[in-house]
Amino acid sequence: MCGIVGYVGNRPARELLIEGLQRLEYRGYDSAGITLAGPAGLESTRAVGNLSHLRSAVSAQDAAGERVGAGCHATVEAPATSGIGHTRWATHGSVTERNTHPHSDDADRVHVVVNGIIENYVSLRARLQADGSVFSSETDAEVVAHLVAAEYDGDLAAAVTATLDQLQGHFAFVALHRDEPDVLVGSRRECPLVIGLGDDEAFFASSTAAFASEARKVRYLEDGEIAIVRAGDVEVRDAAGEIVAGREAEVTDLGPQAEKGPFETFMLKEIHEQGAALEETIGAYVNGPTIDFGGDLDDDLLLRARRIIMVGCGTSYHAALVGRYAIEQWCRVPVELDVASEFRYRNPVLGPGDLVIGMTQSGETADTLAAMRLARSQGAHVVVVTNVPGSQATRECDAALLTRAGLEVGVAATKTFVCQVALMYLLALRI
Ligand code: GLU
Repeated sequence: MCGIVGYVGNRPARELLIEGLQRLEYRGYDSAGITLAGPAGLESTRAVGNLSHLRSAVSAQDAAGERVGAGCHATVEAPATSGIGHTRWATHGSVTERNTHPHSDDADRVHVVVNGIIENYVSLRARLQADGSVFSSETDAEVVAHLVAAEYDGDLAAAVTATLDQLQGHFAFVALHRDEPDVLVGSRRECPLVIGLGDDEAFFASSTAAFASEARKVRYLEDGEIAIVRAGDVEVRDAAGEIVAGREAEVTDLGPQAEKGPFETFMLKEIHEQGAALEETIGAYVNGPTIDFGGDLDDDLLLRARRIIMVGCGTSYHAALVGRYAIEQWCRVPVELDVASEFRYRNPVLGPGDLVIGMTQSGETADTLAAMRLARSQGAHVVVVTNVPGSQATRECDAALLTRAGLEVGVAATKTFVCQVALMYLLALRI
């Protein structure tokens, strides 16, 4: 759900943030906004609806040179070189363009972009209000900003660390403080957040797609880690405050994949790409007459399976349904299937000898990840089928099989679905 981005470097941040948000549009949203760290403080622009409205709001500011929201000094006087952005999918509080109340002191000092849900926001808000914080929205996200402001004592990273301890839920966020405009601090719990590394600049984003054409490397953040990001300097600490090295990978520029080309919609384009996507997916694992998963999947995992349990959500679940027919027909191994969100809450009977296959196009589906974790904690082996190399699911499994459909922007899955089905057939045939 939704997308968040951040930039700190030497280039004007505004366009980079909006472009980054544009590349995350496929995740869905109902409003969008950016904050820039300018000479006059933190300056926000928000707009309901799609990004063209945010662009219009930004152009209107430029044209009029007037104060909109918190103002536009950040772009007119000297372009801001750091900021954060959000394509928001409202879960708590309505879809709003502007704060309904005048800015409070907290709101002027700390801005955050939050993806996900803060489950204990009601009690946190009550406590903060009792201590004098003035809220300007109904969102759960706003408690994060107030908490960071309340914990702040000259060190944004320390304030974020203290804030994290108080939050329940699943979320990713990036915080920016007026007094430290050249540092962004972000963290995640069960929602995606990655860091893009460039030359003397760095990005935060919900997905590598946001900065694929700008950054050289991606640095993955693990649950509970805190990233302190400055231009050309990224430090990641674990929950205990120890600096961790972490995992980096080269960024592949998705180039034309991220463009619609001559097609009216991404979905239409992606339907036309199904043939090529299937060829890539099958070609990667079929060698002459042999299906060979190579280093991706050890045959032992398949042969030892007494029972196969497949978990997924939405379209991935439906690809798994097809997989069940193929595996039971050809292999005579019993296959069970669960919607991942049910599986994680029903205390399933699991153990060694069970092979759990998690199906997730993005590799970040929270319920599927939770189901996979549950299975592993009970001794089952877990294989994931995903379209995104390096995604969270590939880091929490015994083996990862990749569909090679490329970037799918359309929310209704097309080419990734046919590739998942193809991979199910390959798996069944290999068994
Ligand atoms: N829960 C937050 C809100 O309602 C963030 C939603 C999102 O993931 O965009 O603002």
